[in-house]
Amino acid sequence: MISLVPDRNCGKCTACCRFLPIRQERLEKPTNQICPHCRGGAGCTVYPVRPPACVGWYCGWRMLAGLDKSWRPDRSGVMIKVDLPEGGRPQIKMLLLAGPAPLSRKEFASAVACYFNAGADVYLQVPGPLGHYPAQALLNSHIEAAVRERVLEAVQFQMKAAYNALLKHQFEPDGLVMRASLGGQM
Ligand code: SF4
Ligand code: SF4
Repeated sequence: MISLVPDRNCGKCTACCRFLPIRQERLEKPTNQICPHCRGGAGCTVYPVRPPACVGWYCGWRMLAGLDKSWRPDRSGVMIKVDLPEGGRPQIKMLLLAGPAPLSRKEFASAVACYFNAGADVYLQVPGPLGHYPAQALLNSHIEAAVRERVLEAVQFQMKAAYNALLKHQFEPDGLVMRASLGGQM
């Protein structure tokens, strides 16, 4: 059951409509390609009939009360994905939307340390080319000592090392093509 932070809205952000892959009966969309139903500033033009994958999906900024407004993905350059596998550890995936600049924010390292301390598996993700899944690295073992010693600079150092390693990743194609038949403005 998803619980959203009250009075927190997407505003002008449309990051999930670009960076997520969609494979649904009436809408297929490759990773990192803006959905044809998305209009900048106006959001989803097929909102009442958007596919189930869109109805049920919210980024971490909409769900995690500890993040302030600077964390909205279009402002922060980070889209947080929250997975709660049944019987498993929570997974927090921090997708860098436009390069490594957010890694220099103390708030970023602080949030990563906080989720690690809360028992989550925390991943750093880097987008691939259009039509490819992101690369990801599980940060937990890399940041454990730094978090225990409460040295945020060391957490940042480990995240930057993980980022640099991810750039050499062989990105996996998602195999999706653009196909939309939901009506609305195109
Ligand atoms: S990424 Fe988050 S804030 Fe942005 S449009 Fe999607 S749900 Fe809303
Ligand atoms: S159908 Fe609407 S909510 Fe879903 S990806 Fe497209 S614009 Fe976004």
